[in-house]
Amino acid sequence: MINISNGFKELGLSDETLHAIHAKGFEKPTEIQKKIIPLILENKIDLIGQAQTGTGKTAAFALPIIQQLETRAGHIQAIVLVPTRELAIQVSEEFNSLRGHKSLHVAPIYGGQSYDIQLRHLKKGVDVIIGTPGRMIDHLNRKTMSIDKISFAVLDEADEMLSMGFLEDIEDILSKTNPNRRTLLFSATMPERISQLAKKYMGEREIIRTVKSGKTTDLTDQIYFELKESDRFNALCRIIDTTAEFYGLVFCRTRSDVDFIASKLLDRDYDAEGLHGDLSQTVREKILTRFRNKKINILIATDVAARGLDIDELTHVINYALPQDPEAYVHRIGRTGRAGKEGTAVTFITPEEHRKLMFIKNFTRTEIRKERIPHIKDVIDFKKEKISSELKEMIESGVSSNYVEFSKELLGNNDPEAVVAALIKHTYQNELEEESYVKIYDLFETKVSNEGGKSRMFLALGKRDDLNVKELLNMLQKKANISPDKVSGIQIFDAYSFFNVSQKESEIVLEKLNSRDRNKRPIVGRAKGR
Ligand code: AMP
Repeated sequence: MINISNGFKELGLSDETLHAIHAKGFEKPTEIQKKIIPLILENKIDLIGQAQTGTGKTAAFALPIIQQLETRAGHIQAIVLVPTRELAIQVSEEFNSLRGHKSLHVAPIYGGQSYDIQLRHLKKGVDVIIGTPGRMIDHLNRKTMSIDKISFAVLDEADEMLSMGFLEDIEDILSKTNPNRRTLLFSATMPERISQLAKKYMGEREIIRTVKSGKTTDLTDQIYFELKESDRFNALCRIIDTTAEFYGLVFCRTRSDVDFIASKLLDRDYDAEGLHGDLSQTVREKILTRFRNKKINILIATDVAARGLDIDELTHVINYALPQDPEAYVHRIGRTGRAGKEGTAVTFITPEEHRKLMFIKNFTRTEIRKERIPHIKDVIDFKKEKISSELKEMIESGVSSNYVEFSKELLGNNDPEAVVAALIKHTYQNELEEESYVKIYDLFETKVSNEGGKSRMFLALGKRDDLNVKELLNMLQKKANISPDKVSGIQIFDAYSFFNVSQKESEIVLEKLNSRDRNKRPIVGRAKGR
């Protein structure tokens, strides 16, 4: 069997499970995995884990559960309750990739998917169900699913499920399970309602906490964009186009990606070159010299090719593709924000890569902010601004008389505005026209709001806290000085609410409504995009 002792073996995992971990590419266990896996494998008691997304908590419960399930049991052996359909899909994918060759049938069950597909799975026999509470209840009521012989019930992101109003459903589901099951509850926060739920439905239990990550502050501002795969290239152009003196390193995965991006940038007249492992030392040196001397301001590279590259003044490091592991991320972004200069690290992810990025964020213990991709209008405004300030500078420093003569000729009897407009068009072609730019489907904006440029906010107060529209507007006016006409899309539910404000105002709301006391839970946040 495999002979890697990378920290997983010591946790009591079998060779079969170790193989699956190896195939998945995990190199060493995370903190929560180290703490929880042995407990689930050895103990017979219940468990509460306080852990956020990105800590590796899914694998922490999935691995020991998979190892302990029987093949061909002929009944559902484990259920995992999750708050959203996205999570149901992701957790079931994680289970499937971690079960390796073990013959277990894992199926997600969530609202919005056709009953037919779910019934087909259920008829075939499922070992692990990952489900949202509502749809699970539907199946239990229709008697298309029974969960009275399970070994494990997992409540994942329990605090989130409670704030979405799933308490009754969860209680209903648990009451239909066998009492000798083991219950594992995971939650990022531990409000009183979670303790009550645990008291009611869990037996003897242990509580495991992971250390909260501390922020590191340095000169690198870390942001990420969530976009469609096909929009990566245009997003890169928008960043370059809206940076005054872009001088950056763009990381991608393969040599062919390097060639592809470099040649597309050249096609669009950017000063870019690609660097990859297959280049001769002479060519490599030539390219690096050109980059150092700023003859080119964009260098595309793979991790391997960028090894040993030591340049201090980079404005940007762009993760065009996510790095393989957190160490590579740290290594990549460490190339900007050096020598006392501020820099920005930008990471592109597709929605499927969200959890991977959260893992990196947790591991590196830094803050990576979600941002919106610059709009086409931002790019055009930026270019116009640049043109006018360059023109101003030229006028101030005096233009040679040759040009002044020619300009008099051009103006002649023409309308001066028309002449300048024609000159701009002649010089910049279609660069200042919106139609010349490819549209990007910004998942940040489309997800959080249906109104362009607005942020959808989540407030942890609802009807049961006596909140109504008027109260909400009053609160925003009083605490954040935001007038009611700036607020839209208000929805008030029992335990929480949503509303939209502009990007700028969303920052003010976050700052003013949340307590400065770090131990207090924030009451307002951006509505989750996942
Ligand atoms: P989670 O916290 O469960 O949402 O996991 C976040 C991401 O980290 C997922 O993409 C996992 O596949 C990944 N992950 C979990 N454990 C490890 C590990 N030990 N090494 C590397 N990646 C991991």
